[in-house]
Amino acid sequence: MTGPVRHRDELAAATAADRREYLEHGLRELDCLHCAGRVLVKKNSWAHTSIEWTADAVARCDAFSSHDGCPRLHRSIEHAIMAGQLQVPDG
Ligand SMILES: [Zn+2]
Repeated sequence: MTGPVRHRDELAAATAADRREYLEHGLRELDCLHCAGRVLVKKNSWAHTSIEWTADAVARCDAFSSHDGCPRLHRSIEHAIMAGQLQVPDG
């Protein structure tokens, strides 16, 4: 994987803090199958998906738009649901 060079400790500390926060809100990490950017996803229902973009994911994704995010990411989310990596609440 390639990407911008970061200060390792700084990145690790930020990631650990973020991770706690995200897990508390029920978000799951998901890699976009297209650009490999890591976003945080939560399925609230079949119709409603929360997606948290990280700065790193935005920088990686050439198809990102602030309105729609990455159109290919939606396929990655469907893939994760079918693979059982992402839960969709019933009802
Ligand atoms: Zn993408």
